Amino acid sequence: MKNGKGQHVLVAGGAGFIGSNLCDALIADGHRVVCLDSFGTGRKVNLDHLAREPRFELVEADIVEPLPKLPRADRVFNLACAASPPHYQADPVHTMMTSVVGTHRLLAKAEADGARFLQASTSEVYGDPEIHPQAETYWGNVNPTGPRACYDEGKRAAETLVFDFERAGRAEVRVARIFNTYGPRMRADDGRVVSNAVCQALRGEDITVYGSGQQTRSFCFVSDLVDGLTRLMSHDGPLGGPVNLGNPTEMTIEELVAVVLRLTGSLSEVVWRPLPVDDPRRRRPDITRARELLGWAPKVPLEVGLKASIAWFAKEVGSAKDKARRGAKVAGATAAAPRSAP
Ligand code: UDP
Repeated sequence: MKNGKGQHVLVAGGAGFIGSNLCDALIADGHRVVCLDSFGTGRKVNLDHLAREPRFELVEADIVEPLPKLPRADRVFNLACAASPPHYQADPVHTMMTSVVGTHRLLAKAEADGARFLQASTSEVYGDPEIHPQAETYWGNVNPTGPRACYDEGKRAAETLVFDFERAGRAEVRVARIFNTYGPRMRADDGRVVSNAVCQALRGEDITVYGSGQQTRSFCFVSDLVDGLTRLMSHDGPLGGPVNLGNPTEMTIEELVAVVLRLTGSLSEVVWRPLPVDDPRRRRPDITRARELLGWAPKVPLEVGLKASIAWFAKEVGSAKDKARRGAKVAGATAAAPRSAP
């Protein structure tokens, strides 16, 4: 089966922010989807709406461990890895193993099934770039021993594995280098600038800007990114290396925070915190290859995407508040209960 409807698609990391949005797009396109997730950072709630979908199956598994028995796949997407700095640094060895051991297991599965394999790589392979904007030809400037290395070097090693499988004729592969992505299903506790700034603004808390706020990023809305991923997977014929997927509109963190404050109408104050170690100073994708090979470019303007994200986070922040209130009531009831109760 090539690119028609009804493919059997395995999505590792399918319960995460990008993965769950990808599962939705694949189901809407008529495919059968098996989602594999360890729920390390992915969440079941992201897929609750697919529970009755006969073409969807959810399997709990960590790709670092031997894979469970899975149906044969035509396509394998590997999006399994913690991706925000606080989450991937919480267990750095596991992060590295996810990218190296986990990617190897999924490549072996793709080889056994004759499936096409797409690796979710990252703009982090460029590290703190000395070339701007970043084209796929740039080899990057990564600190191999710093706190970000578990993610950056893990993803770089995963790319190596993927292209070694391709060179050896063991699997047909695609590599997407994904730049900063935001949108609904991001976790409120993701620790990234978009989730932090929006949730802080909605809660009326201080907005934390790390460093001077003059460092730049380029933010891509999740629906654009998912469109890029599915186009990349469907593209027939050799690609000759990785493809950047991201929005080339670059802005400083201070500028992003100003937009968030305006759109939320929040009166939150901005506070400055130290810049994390090895935090890249600037980042913008050169998407010439994606444009030319896939006819892809992002469509969603920042303000439109941010409004949709604010609506999502407002629900998340609201339900967390409700839970806390319910918790307080239960705690109050417990406190009033007789001390001798078991
Ligand atoms: N950042 C910030 N405040 C926050 C979280 C992040 O100023 O509350 C900064 C961070 O130091 C970085 C930029 O925003 O310079 C983007 O960080 P994020 O974690 O979103 O993504 P990444 O660093 O992986 O690109």
